[in-house]
Amino acid sequence: MRKTRIKSKQRKRFNRLFSTLVVFCIVLTTLFILKDKLFYPDTVIAGQISEENSNNLNTEEENFNNEADKQEEVKNYPVSIDKAEDILIVVNKDIHVDSDYKPDDLVIPDVKFSFDGEHEKKYMRQEAAKALEELFKNAYEEGKYIFALSGYRSYNTQKYIFNNFADRMGEEEANKLSARPGQSEHQTGLAMDITSQQVGFGLEEEFGNTNEGKWVKDNAHKFGFIIRYPKDKTHITGYLYEPWHLRYVGKDVAQKIYNEQITLEEYFGIE
Ligand SMILES: [Zn+2]
Repeated sequence: MRKTRIKSKQRKRFNRLFSTLVVFCIVLTTLFILKDKLFYPDTVIAGQISEENSNNLNTEEENFNNEADKQEEVKNYPVSIDKAEDILIVVNKDIHVDSDYKPDDLVIPDVKFSFDGEHEKKYMRQEAAKALEELFKNAYEEGKYIFALSGYRSYNTQKYIFNNFADRMGEEEANKLSARPGQSEHQTGLAMDITSQQVGFGLEEEFGNTNEGKWVKDNAHKFGFIIRYPKDKTHITGYLYEPWHLRYVGKDVAQKIYNEQITLEEYFGIE
């Protein structure tokens, strides 16, 4: 009788141990399956995205003239459109940057500026700064003496500038010339306004007709830059022609945008 009780106790203990083991195994297996999602969500997402993007780039090259495929490709670019640190980020009157966004790789490009001294507007993101140095080097070699005027601009500086315009001409007019805070590409550190002596080192539409302006229009893409606000594209970009505003997008995209004479919005299929 006693022996049986002991046996039954042992069996109960064994069963309990066995069930605990089974549960433990299930939890372990689940954890193993989900480990990537649980512990490295960003890595996995970023990996998937860059893979998707590179696939899209191949597809695009192979079917360059196929409109249907191009539409498909465009739809797969949302990350580039709203991720601030992505060099293909689109910032315009509909797509904004957070007020506290500041790139963490800002450097001063080694180029000639139209002014002296330390200023936040001398800065650009590292990759864009390197590309700008190349562009300037080539321009000077060909006798085109351009000067950098305005690169990175913080949210607060943009706010100050816009309010200044708005005080003078009203908000609606101001918005054609200046971006509202959070809507300026300058906050991404990927844009640089350039100028020349011929236009008095200012930001003048006339710059587009100077030797310097023409050279930049024909050559900027070779260094990964686009003229972000081209002539006759105001209805798409929301801005008047700005032959001085260079935006870095990398050589591949710049080349495509240049070849097709489109805007960054059109490249991404954004209306
Ligand atoms: Zn600009």
